[in-house]
Amino acid sequence: MTSSVGNIPRRRFDTLVIGAGGAGLRAALQLARADLTVAVVSKVFPTRSHTVAAQGGVNAALANVSADNWHWHMYDTIKGSDYLGDQDAIEYMCRAASRMVIELEHMGVPFSRLDNGKIYQRAFGGQSQQFGGDQASRTCAAADRTGHAILHALYQQNLKAKTHFFDEYFAIDLIRDCEQSVLGALVLEIETGELLIIEAKTTLIATGGAGQIFRTNTNARINTGDGMAMALRSGVPLQDMEFFQFHPTGIAGKGMLISEGVRGEGGYLVNSEGERFMERYAPHAKDLACRDVVSRAIAIEVREGRGCGENKDYVLLKLDHLGADIIKKRLPNIRETAITFLGIDPVDQPIPVFPTAHYTMGGIPTNRFGQVVSSQVGGAEETVPGFYAVGECACVSVHGANRLGGNSLLDIIVFGRAAGNHIISYLAENRYHKAFDGEGIAASIDRLAHWDRQGEGETVSNLRTELQAAMEEYCGVFRTEEVLTAGVATVKAIKQRLENVYLQDHSKVFNTARIEALELENLIDIALATVESALARCESRGAHSRIDYPARDDTRWLKHSLYHLKEGVVDYKPVRMKPISVASFPPKERVY
Ligand SMILES: Cc1cc2nc3c(=O)[nH]c(=O)nc-3n(C[C@H](O)[C@H](O)[C@H](O)COP(=O)(O)OP(=O)(O)OC[C@H]3O[C@@H](n4cnc5c(N)ncnc54)[C@H](O)[C@@H]3O)c2cc1C
Repeated sequence: MTSSVGNIPRRRFDTLVIGAGGAGLRAALQLARADLTVAVVSKVFPTRSHTVAAQGGVNAALANVSADNWHWHMYDTIKGSDYLGDQDAIEYMCRAASRMVIELEHMGVPFSRLDNGKIYQRAFGGQSQQFGGDQASRTCAAADRTGHAILHALYQQNLKAKTHFFDEYFAIDLIRDCEQSVLGALVLEIETGELLIIEAKTTLIATGGAGQIFRTNTNARINTGDGMAMALRSGVPLQDMEFFQFHPTGIAGKGMLISEGVRGEGGYLVNSEGERFMERYAPHAKDLACRDVVSRAIAIEVREGRGCGENKDYVLLKLDHLGADIIKKRLPNIRETAITFLGIDPVDQPIPVFPTAHYTMGGIPTNRFGQVVSSQVGGAEETVPGFYAVGECACVSVHGANRLGGNSLLDIIVFGRAAGNHIISYLAENRYHKAFDGEGIAASIDRLAHWDRQGEGETVSNLRTELQAAMEEYCGVFRTEEVLTAGVATVKAIKQRLENVYLQDHSKVFNTARIEALELENLIDIALATVESALARCESRGAHSRIDYPARDDTRWLKHSLYHLKEGVVDYKPVRMKPISVASFPPKERVY
């Protein structure tokens, strides 16, 4: 399949959006409605993007169920982030939330209703009234299929607005010129294996998270961090990669998600002694403490011998007391998941759960307009002209060291729209395509040529399995210098072994084998960014728990990390503590 650049067909658009999840589709919609030409490239059919799997809901201080206010939402998000979130971006997101949810409703999202006809809202972890007071109910839900409803509505709106879709095309690399502008991307049509160059005046990455770096995870198989790896290869560092969220309630041993909505509806966790143990770890919020807190509590219960089952390696999530009606009406999907994967009907029996890899807090650094912010090691920050990133692949950063449930669907909608608006104004000033001479993709073509080699050697799937097992072992809920050092060495050794990986005879395997190889390259770079950044951070903050540095250390570590691929080093930049229009929330002790 080796191609020379001159032979590769080209298409031109005002904007290229890579990724058709909620983030990509919300940005594309803004652009298509402004009569710009928009190409959306997705490696799977758009409505199969991982956004479709989001269950619990999207946060907005609508105050339909409890008293609420965007400012309380802002406080909860900053506290939830363990003070690592950028306060200007958080203010922007929380202020916009109510308007964005109503807009989704008008686009056709069938939110669940209260008896008075208003949008139903459930309680979720880390939500409070009055800056840390009583539990708030802030999460707007369409039963437990909120992401499904949002993604389908956005896709249909995009079809109406004439967005151009390249379905089942795999983006390989960004195209950059010597002035470091981004000129589009090199993509591959999965069905035929043909390459295509998409030239664009602006490029937006919205490729989602990288949960597949871990063995047990809640993510779709496609969540391999491709866009983050593309950005890394093009010279952009990745921010805050050590912060990976472990969701407390994955199905034990399997990983499928049991939404926080279950605890929001009144479900709770018990150990082998039948004790409701969260009361000990978070006396006030109990089972609705933040995810990092609940995940650690479960891991400790199991470690101290109070786990359930033959191997004492999980705890139980009890919800039978909610009654069959509530479970069937508010949590139908959860019930179905438990019946399908465990043969357990939660109407009668508790669900065995254990923390599972869930959400990539780190990612491509951006500002609140979605512009990618790059920097050299130790150098000043600058935005990359025409280059944007939004959604789970980006780090804006509204989630800091720990994301609140329901804030990611909000993030993708708010910043998808914001990036769309910024691109519209950028294009008004930058009306022409920059010349592209083909030089910028030579390295990518070489890399692809590697996967034309056939023969005997290691297989992609073995190496991927080893990588995922290594990340689980060396970079899990609790970390130490010793374990992380071993993790870095293991992932580096796996990276070296890529050289010995061959695809089998192409005539016998479908083209997707090549895609899996490209995904493996991406996974390895993201895993390395994660474990290197984790080793470098000598404190415990949010989801990053160092047994050897158990306390948060604001004097030395209240800063964002930036991992650079080329130098393999971790650099730092300050947290933006200044909101847009209200007073800053200074760090204080984080208790629930
Ligand atoms: C099981 C589950 C439940 C969740 N529940 C909630 C919830 O209730 N509330 C909440 O706020 N958050 C929830 N989250 C998190 C939230 O759903 C995600 O963070 C969010 O939907 C990500 O959206 P996205 O648009 O950034 O990426 P995605 O929806 O993951 O989309 C990524 C897109 O990029 C494309 N892509 C990737 N790589 C390439 C490539 N190389 N070439 C071409 N295309 C590519 C994919 O095809 C896809 O279209 C949940 C997550 C999971 C896994």
